[in-house]
Amino acid sequence: MSQENSGTMAQQADPIDPKQVGAWYDQFGDVYHQTIGDSLHCGLWVPPDAPPPAGLDLVTLSSEAQDRYTDYLISVLHLRPGQRFLDIGCGPGRPAGRLAELTGAHVTGISVSKEQIDRAVRLAAETAGAAGSGRLTFEVADATCLPYDDESFDGAWAVESIGHMDRAKALKEAWRVLRPGGELLVLEAVLTAEPTEADTALYDQVLASNLPLRMPEFFALVEEAGFHTLELKDLTANLALSMDVMELVFRDRSQEMSERFGPEFAGLMAAALPGVRALVREKIRFFLLLLRK
Ligand code: SAH
Repeated sequence: MSQENSGTMAQQADPIDPKQVGAWYDQFGDVYHQTIGDSLHCGLWVPPDAPPPAGLDLVTLSSEAQDRYTDYLISVLHLRPGQRFLDIGCGPGRPAGRLAELTGAHVTGISVSKEQIDRAVRLAAETAGAAGSGRLTFEVADATCLPYDDESFDGAWAVESIGHMDRAKALKEAWRVLRPGGELLVLEAVLTAEPTEADTALYDQVLASNLPLRMPEFFALVEEAGFHTLELKDLTANLALSMDVMELVFRDRSQEMSERFGPEFAGLMAAALPGVRALVREKIRFFLLLLRK
């Protein structure tokens, strides 16, 4: 567009000089490869006709990936309608809800967080009438000292929760409340290298968790509790990507995080998350274990 008629149309600078474009790509084009992949275009993250807000932001995409993960875990179980299932460390209840809905099982979720159980109960009430909602129970309970009779469940899972607990006790308690032949699905990290003091502090002070064990140590606990291992799958890449998303989103929204959780916690978390990412990539493997009593 020439300078003379530019006033009559939308204001636009002169079209960029192809030489300048070429020079830019020559010098900086690799920035795309370094950050988003082997092509220079965007990714098809969601189906083209997905209704908004699907995939509009990383948190939504991550939440969808979480549901896919839950559904995959459900597919690994051999749970039948009417059976009784225990969700050990259930969080605010979404996975338990999907499990009840998709399998027809009766699901009891437990957590040591009262706030989570309140949310889970509310979620179940809000979805009352939805398939599965009538078969959901949540309560505050400690997995290392379960308030249930021996052999009172057909199946159980501990999804990214057992690291918070005395693992040996939690595994023994899970074994006690399962019927013979009952399955326990565990999602758990193990260490593959020596943790530094900073790594240990990260688990203790930021993640409210015990350090992961080495693989042989963890399997010793599994066997000591009386379980046989049916299946073992490495899901490390999934944990690593979720930690990438968490760090990026947290950094993006640091102001909002500080207002929500207070500057002290937000600062601690912001400082810790790059270390969490590095730890997961360099010193941890993350496994699915299907165990049988
Ligand atoms: N399984 C859920 C939540 C994982 S977060 C999900 O996949 O979304 C870890 C959960 O373990 C939290 O709900 C936490 O409260 C619970 N937890 C930690 N220690 C526990 C204990 N001793 N007994 C019961 N729940 C525990």
